[in-house]
Amino acid sequence: MRFLPRVPGRRPLVVAAATIAAVGGGGTAFAVSSIGEADRSADLAAAIDSSKPRNVILLIGDGTDDSIITAARNYERGADGRFGALDELPFTGDMTTHGLKVGPGPDYPIAYVSDSAPTASGWSTGKKTVDSRISQGPSVADTTPGADYRTAMEILRDQGKRTGNVSTAELTDATPAAAAAHINLRECKGPANMARCADARKANGGKGSIAEQLVDNKIDVLLGGARGSFNQKIDADDRSVLQYAKDEHTYVEVANRTELDAVRSLDDGPILGLFASGNMTPRYAPLVATAPPGAGGPDQRCTEADRGEQPSLEAMTRKAIELLDNPKGFFLQVESAMVDKQEHASDICGAIGDVGELDRATQVALDYQAEHPDTLIIVTSDHAHSTQIVPGVDAGRQTATLKTADGDPMYVAYSTQESGSSHTGTQVRVAAKGPQAANVTGLIDQTDLFPTILGREPSELPTITVPGETVTVPGETVTVPGPARTVTVPGPTQTVTAPARPIAPRISVNVPRSITRNQLRRPGVTVTVAATGAARVTVELRRGNTRIVRKSVRSNGGTVRLPARANRGTLRVVVKATGEGRDRTTSRTLRVR
Ligand SMILES: [Mg+2]
Ligand SMILES: [Zn+2]
Repeated sequence: MRFLPRVPGRRPLVVAAATIAAVGGGGTAFAVSSIGEADRSADLAAAIDSSKPRNVILLIGDGTDDSIITAARNYERGADGRFGALDELPFTGDMTTHGLKVGPGPDYPIAYVSDSAPTASGWSTGKKTVDSRISQGPSVADTTPGADYRTAMEILRDQGKRTGNVSTAELTDATPAAAAAHINLRECKGPANMARCADARKANGGKGSIAEQLVDNKIDVLLGGARGSFNQKIDADDRSVLQYAKDEHTYVEVANRTELDAVRSLDDGPILGLFASGNMTPRYAPLVATAPPGAGGPDQRCTEADRGEQPSLEAMTRKAIELLDNPKGFFLQVESAMVDKQEHASDICGAIGDVGELDRATQVALDYQAEHPDTLIIVTSDHAHSTQIVPGVDAGRQTATLKTADGDPMYVAYSTQESGSSHTGTQVRVAAKGPQAANVTGLIDQTDLFPTILGREPSELPTITVPGETVTVPGETVTVPGPARTVTVPGPTQTVTAPARPIAPRISVNVPRSITRNQLRRPGVTVTVAATGAARVTVELRRGNTRIVRKSVRSNGGTVRLPARANRGTLRVVVKATGEGRDRTTSRTLRVR
């Protein structure tokens, strides 16, 4: 963690006031179903990092609102359970998702229920637009193009970062399209689908279909469905978009999970992975709700679908990160798309299964972030959908019953239509972890994600200083001589107590209260430490007084994984900070179950 501002060329004696508050606090915060007795303020304060992220991983669950997340959690983990990654993100907020309707302008009526095109355009460009439109402004009619809006992916690519776009839908579907294409209608996926996007045809001097624009934009890693769109012939000659991508932009084609595994670098060109002719297969076979008394029953569980040689979203995310990782950083958008598609089909199992896939992909991102803390992870949805958890089989137009992980029946309903289902207009959850993650808290709008993805100018965190040291605070440089006393630091105004030197190190530690034996073996227990005034910080896992494993973190803290083999019982995590003054040791118990 890099939340401590540093004085250039000096020992880090500037102390975040937030961390002072951590002394004597700490404890677990995010890992268990009950948040426990301990005050969480210190943990949250320690997680605030105002630095600009080097890497950004944006994970989208299409149509993945709080209702389907809750239904999926009940089913997979039980009502008191928690998803390992989705529910571990420390900063959460709500996000409004409304769009606009076509019209004469310049003011356009509000569309209270949006589709995936204007919503993805919202975070991609920072601007609202009309239904079905891909990163273009509003206009008088669907078939009239709006102004092209530059996307975050294009801007970051031009800054020298690598870019990736992963989806379980067609890569030409609205969510991945909005990251790196500009067109008046989302339906104009390939050169053969351009009837209502005439101006965009390459033959007419336009940028071409969505498939053509994605490869012309030279996105480094494209993984998903839509072989059908990429097999369509381009306007200029007899080649397919896929062949054109290989010929003109040196794309390397990947067709199944084995070939994806085999790719090791971008040295031979950008990667175009096309794993299905249309959308990819959801994890679970469908269970479609029907008119009451509905589908399924109190013993109904979902069954795994046969996904053949298709890679999972988790595997695509892991490979994309491996290929994109580089010193200049990257921006990766990952979409669990089939939550939405299956909700449209009133298919509760299909939707639930792919919320789980989003959780697994998020875990891959968190694992990478543990080693690369300058990575911002944002997990959100584009718009709300129709799944509701209801009190009984009669409480909706179409219903289904599933047995949850608790062993109890859960009833869900789809009531927007007699068959199938449509989007709804409520706000959706947004969650984040990493540098500048605090920007998702409270109520934000989708368009607010645009500057967050690009990285904001870091704000100054509240600071105190110790006597005799010089510290730069907003606007001026202050030297604080003399013994310990209260000083007022200009900038974000606050009064803090400066202790006499040498100061003892201070530590705030976050350790889960319990862990399974499997998780302990791999990846190990995750320990996050924030430290001030330390020269060296070590983290140990002990059984009794016997050390099992020890690792070091940076002098101002960090996150480590401590893997170990252990039977059920209690272990101890011991964090020791060695400082100029005296040492400080903190320990936490960890139950292995
Ligand atoms: Mg989508
Ligand atoms: Zn949809």
